[in-house]
This record gives sequence, C-alpha cells and structure tokens, in this order.
Amino acid sequence: MPALRVLSLYPELMNIYADRGNIAVLRARCEWRGIGFEHASSSLGQRFDPDAHDLIYMGGGQDRDQVAVARDMESTKREALHAAAGHGAVVLAVCGGYQLLGHSYELDGEELPGVGLVDLRTIREQGPRLIGNCAIEADLGTGPRVIAGFENHGGRTYLGPDETPLGRVISGHGNNGRDGFEGVHSGTVIGTYLHGPLLPKNIWLADRLIELALDIDLEPLPGDELEDAAHASARRAAGV
Ligand code: GLN
Repeated sequence: MPALRVLSLYPELMNIYADRGNIAVLRARCEWRGIGFEHASSSLGQRFDPDAHDLIYMGGGQDRDQVAVARDMESTKREALHAAAGHGAVVLAVCGGYQLLGHSYELDGEELPGVGLVDLRTIREQGPRLIGNCAIEADLGTGPRVIAGFENHGGRTYLGPDETPLGRVISGHGNNGRDGFEGVHSGTVIGTYLHGPLLPKNIWLADRLIELALDIDLEPLPGDELEDAAHASARRAAGV
C-alpha cells in the first residue's frame, strides 16, 4: 500500500479558521483505507526536500504573519516548491497561503514577495473585506463539482492571462469580487480562498487530492452518504 507523505508549511503561523483540519481529513481518509499517512512540517528558517513529499499544504494567515512567512518562504522554500510541483507533487494553499503562491501581495504600500509558482498578484485595495459563505464549480478531472466554503480576505487576487482559475463562483466573492472566478489551478498546484476548513466541507476534494498526489483511484468509503448530506447543507448555506 502507498503512503501519502504530507508537508505542512508554517502550520503554527498559517492556520486561520483551523485550516489544520484539512490535514486531519487527509489523514482520516487515508487511514480508513489502509493507506499510510506521514506528516511533516517546515516553518521559519527550515528547508525541505522536494522529493520527500506527495502533497504540500499551507493554510490561511493574518497579514502580519504573512509578512514574516513571505520573506522566509522566498529565501528558504521557493526553489524546493518549484522542484516539488515540477515533478508532480500536489501543492494546496488556502487564502493567505494562496496569496503567497503568486508573484506578490501588496499591502499598505509594501510589496510582499510570493514564490511565483503561479502567475497571479494580490493587492490589498480600498474597500470592504470579502467575507461570507462561497460556492464554486470546479473540475479536477472528474467533471464539474461544487466546492463550498467560507471566505474572508482583504486581498484581491488577479490571475495572469494564461492562468486558469480553480472554479467559477456560483455564490460569494471569489478572487476579487469582480471577475466571477475563484482560486487557481495550474498542473498540480491549487490555490483557493475557501476555508471551512476546506476539506472537511468537501470530502470529494480531499479524496481527489489523494488520488492526484498518489496517482491512484479511490472508491468511496462506507458512510460517505453522510458526507454527501453534509455537503448538501454546506451548499445550501452558500445559497446553492
Ligand atoms: N491576510 C489575508 C487577507 O486578509 C488572508 C486572510 C486569510 O487567510 N483568511 O487577505
């Protein structure tokens, strides 16, 4: 049996809305199937081996924590992230983590560096924070599905012309509240504004990420009809 080797980036700093719950779901979905699960972390000042992980995860964070993280990420993790994504590791980044996957996050006249894994920029513009339940339609290779979650971000994200969003906003704000798109999906790199945390609310997505990371096909688990019912209620909360 394969093992899913997961690396959390800055887990103590980038964990707004209990985003670490995403890791708990990945672990449970693997262990319930007899798939091994290994979890490591890499934080300030630490480098990581790009060949040692199948899925690299980063949660959301407050602006002040992102300042330290952005600089550290650029100096200690940028190259390894590019190498890992280049050989097919899944990179999943939520909200504050998502913003740092691009070129820059501009706030209060300061430009925080991103790691440049995807072609996007984030700007803290005038205007209200984009807050509320959100639902998007996304296709991760198995047909269109709904991802339901909660967003709360001051930054507005703009994708470059050749970049593909993760999904189309059905309800909520998405990347910038204007263009009707949410997140980014480039090869095995996925960024999204959706907390929930994301994976407990969207079990199908957790399973799909495991499939992509390990290059395997998964069958549903007994009891997944309860997950489907929970997903329907998350969709209803988002007005879908
Ligand atoms: N600090 C970022 C913003 O407000 C990200 C917030 C978050 O991760 N929820 O845009």
